[in-house]
This record gives sequence, structure tokens and C-alpha cells, in this order.
Amino acid sequence: MQTLTILGSTGSIGTSTLDVVARHPERFQVFALTAYRQVELLFKQCVQFQPKFAVLLDELAVLELRCRVREAGLNTEVLSGVDALEQVCIASEVDAVMAAIVGAAGLRPTLAAAQAGKKILLANKETLVMAGNVFMDAVRASGSALLPIDSEHNAIFQALPHGYNGDKNAHGVRKILLTASGGPFRDTPLSELQHVSPDQACAHPNWVMGRKISVDSASMMNKGLEVIEAHWLFNASADDIQVVVHPQSVIHSLVEYVDGSVIAQLGNPDMRTPIAYGLAYPERIDSGVAPLDLFKVAQMNFVAPDFVRFPCLALAYQALRAAGTAPAVLNAANEIAVAAFLDKHIAFLDIAKIIDAVLNQLAVLPVTCLNDVLHADADARQAATAQIARMKK
Ligand code: NAD
Ligand code: MG
Repeated sequence: MQTLTILGSTGSIGTSTLDVVARHPERFQVFALTAYRQVELLFKQCVQFQPKFAVLLDELAVLELRCRVREAGLNTEVLSGVDALEQVCIASEVDAVMAAIVGAAGLRPTLAAAQAGKKILLANKETLVMAGNVFMDAVRASGSALLPIDSEHNAIFQALPHGYNGDKNAHGVRKILLTASGGPFRDTPLSELQHVSPDQACAHPNWVMGRKISVDSASMMNKGLEVIEAHWLFNASADDIQVVVHPQSVIHSLVEYVDGSVIAQLGNPDMRTPIAYGLAYPERIDSGVAPLDLFKVAQMNFVAPDFVRFPCLALAYQALRAAGTAPAVLNAANEIAVAAFLDKHIAFLDIAKIIDAVLNQLAVLPVTCLNDVLHADADARQAATAQIARMKK
């Protein structure tokens, strides 16, 4: 029996995780569920999965959930705040933590889980983008098992040789080919991109996801963040990671070897496949995902990414090459810009302009500890907010 904490259980990845967990009650039990403030859904999840703890970040939501839990006679203790998120990750009962909070808010609890040596199912790519070296050092020091849940990285993990330790040459690995759907605006005329709405940006052709990552997919910042994520997970340089636009999202990524072999992982675009893989690793279990029908797929296309149409992808490569605090700055400026776009304060194309301005404004500093990252994150948020205020004038 594996005991799980699911950070961000009410989100897209969180609910898909619980869907897989519910299929295997003999394998998994839930220790803690966490959310920002979605009382209704978290309550339903508490009724179904009977966790020992539920954590919310919003104080009013905490009081409401406590009431509901008491009325229903559940044995779930409701906690609040970031410290509680960390507690439910490091508790001795916990075997594995699904890190599925969106954005920088996921960093602290995910890092705490790594320091405590828990098995980590990593969906929160922002943790690696912001604090890649700090996080990977913690994973290595504690001996945590780190399983990538992002579909591309999960595919790469599956396509790499068993026991791959980051030494590309020793394993005959030449390149990582990271596939991208190209998002909803792959073929939209450039002149129309200035006026696209948040709902248009969130209407992804292949995947159903939270709104922040959906906007990231539309700008291809998501792929940029994933390039940085792949760098840390697989010890690959920017030059070793090639983005390949593949609109059908059937091949989830590939690994190219020195002998000319290219190994890919395919499947329907449904996050329950990488989630089930991570949960049961090294075994395979039913995920509820329909088998891939290659005759229905019929065609697969591949094109090079368009860095003019998607400047965010270029900015991410630039930040990865600049190293130090640059990826944390990129991530924070992106979070502020995406939130402003979702709130209709800025246009879609302003997202890249804001990130570019913030990257140019802030000096790149070395990262040696978490505080270096948190400072860069705070400075970049402030700079991005000021940039948006200037734009609105
Ligand atoms: P989502 O918006 O659907 O869910 C986010 C979850 O985090 C919710 O449970 C929410 O309550 C919680 N949350 C939000 N802000 C919080 C805060 N400040 N403090 C604590 N909890 C907070 O997001 P998602 O699409 O499930 O994505 C989650 C993570 O997984 C992201 O990092 C995303 O990049 C990554 N990811 C998602 C997908 C996908 O298909 N959805 C695929 C790959 C990677
Ligand atoms: Mg992905």
C-alpha cells in the first residue's frame, strides 16, 4: 500500500490523479489533499478518499471546510497555510507526493518533500524552472525517487535507458526531442494574435488543463519551461534539447541515440497515462485511458518551431543559457503577465514583451540556495507589475 499526499488535488492534474487512485484502492491510500480555496470539490474528495488531512490556503475556505467536515462526521483534520502544505508532505506516514500545485506556490512544499526523501511525482514544472539546482541537489542528497509527470518528460523518462544517470555520452544519448502541439494559435494569422481573448487562449486543441498552463501552451512558454525542466531532469544542455512541433500530440517526446535509433513514447493525450506510470513505477497499471488507435490517428506531422510567432520560447532558451536566476525571473514575470492577460489587463502579445523587459532589467545572479531564488522571484514580480502599470498608461 502506498500512502499519498496530493498537492493541488482540485486541479486538472489533481483530479486526474484521484481518478487513477480510485481505480486501485488496494494499492493507494490518501493521506492528505490540498487546494487553494475550492471548498466544494475538496469536500467531495474528502468524502470519497477519507484523507487524514485537508489543507486550504484561503482562511475563509478553511472555516467553511471545517464546518462541512464536522457535519459529515469525517475524520479529516482541516489545516491552513503554507507550513501545513509542507507538514503533509514530510509526515512519516507519507510515501509519495504528487506535486500538482500550479506556479511558484508549488516550490516550497515540493522542495520539502524532496528534502524528506519522499517519492515525488512532479507535475509542477515551475519548481525545476525556478530552483533546478537547489531542488535536484535536495533530491540527490535525500535519495528521493523523482518521477516526471509532465507528459513529455514522462515520455523521455520512458525512452531513456533504465538507470540513466544524466551521463548522456555513457548511455549513447545524442539528443532529446521535445514535442509540442503548437497550441491553439499555431496557424492563427499573426495580425490576429494581438486581439485573442483568454477563452480563445485556453481552448487547447488536444489537452484539457488549468488556465495558467493553457495560456502558457498558447504562447509556447509552456514548451520553454519544459526545455528548462528537461535540462534539469536529464542533464541536457539547451543545444541538446530540440523542440519539435507535432500537432496531433500522439508522440509525447523522443530520445535520439548515437547509433541513429530514435525511441518515442506514444499514447492518447490524457494525463492519466503519465500519472499512472509515476504512481505505480516500475510496474504498469490501468489508467482508464483508451488504447491508442493508430488507424484513427492516420497521420503524424512534424515542423520546426516558429520563434517569431512564439517569442516566449526563444526567451526561455535565452534564460536557460543565461542560467543563475534568469529562469526564476522568466517564470515569475510570466506568471504575473499571464495573470494580467487572464484578467484582461493586457493583450496576448504583451506577455512576451513584459517578460523580455524584465529579463533585460534584472541582473543575472548565481543561485546557491532557496533564498536566492525567492529574492529573484520577488524582484521579477515587482518589475513585471511595474511594467504592466507603465503599459496601461
Ligand atoms: P490547475 O489550475 O487545474 O490546478 C492547480 C491546483 O493548485 C488547484 O488544486 C489549486 O487549488 C492549487 N493552487 C493554486 N494556487 C495555489 C496556491 N497559491 N497555493 C496552493 N495551492 C494552489 O492546474 P493544473 O493544470 O492541474 O496544473 C498543475 C501543475 O501541473 C502546473 O505546474 C502545470 O504546469 C503542471 N502540468 C499540468 C498539466 C495538465 O495537463 N494540466 C500537464 C503537465 C504539467
Ligand atoms: Mg507538458
